Amino acid sequence: MDFTVLTIFPEMFDAFWAHGIIRRALNQGQVTASTVNIRDYAEGRHKMTDDRPYGGGCGMVMKPEPLAAAIEAVRSNSPQALTVLLTPQGRPFDQGLAEELSRENSLIFVCGRYEGVDDRICDNHVDLEISIGDYVLTGGEVAAMAVIDAVTRLLPGVLGNEDSAWQDSFSRDLLEHGHYTRPPEFNGEKVPEVLLSGNHSAIAKWRLEYSLVKTLLKRSDLLKERPLEQSELDILHKWQKEIESIIRSKS
Ligand code: SAM
Repeated sequence: MDFTVLTIFPEMFDAFWAHGIIRRALNQGQVTASTVNIRDYAEGRHKMTDDRPYGGGCGMVMKPEPLAAAIEAVRSNSPQALTVLLTPQGRPFDQGLAEELSRENSLIFVCGRYEGVDDRICDNHVDLEISIGDYVLTGGEVAAMAVIDAVTRLLPGVLGNEDSAWQDSFSRDLLEHGHYTRPPEFNGEKVPEVLLSGNHSAIAKWRLEYSLVKTLLKRSDLLKERPLEQSELDILHKWQKEIESIIRSKS
């Protein structure tokens, strides 16, 4: 996977590329990454990348010429690349979209600043607009990092243990089960006994039950939209019966 980020603050990515899983993926060659300073494509003595909005109003708008020139330059080396604009008005980013993007070979991210980018860039130079949530950031850089991070961990061989991505929250439309590590007792609270038992099928069953109940309590919307297997329905029925018996005993 090749990531190229177009930004007026390329230094923000220096630390990002240099840490954790993304650094390992770069070192192992599963990922290549570069940042392009949009200002390098701006004309004039002051290399302006923004200008006042037509029609008046507050704030500045990112000028189309440097953005178009930067995008075209990157695309000329990578014609198959998907160009993504980070914008609060884009398609909501979720695990499904991360999986779709992980199947691409090359992604170009365009980071806006100020009031955003000139609309002609959105219309003619971008394949996909992505929002990382219904709130407004000051720039697209943090959003691009979130998308790159989520995509990178899905690439084959990037996570040490191939199993860990499919178990994660959302990849099966379930929140992930709880995790425990040493010590076996902390502040009087013990690790669930089954996890110390060495019984792998009992552990898998416990984890599925934990996932289902956690999802029911925290994100029931996910369960409503998801088909349920018989084993999952059995777990929910067990809890339903337990809740009903508590209610009956109180009424
Ligand atoms: N005026 C714009 C609006 O109301 O839609 C918001 C512009 S925002 C202050 C500046 C830049 O931050 C945007 O161009 C975009 O690149 C980025 N940004 C802000 N919020 C974002 C979000 N939720 N998801 C992705 N990018 C975001």
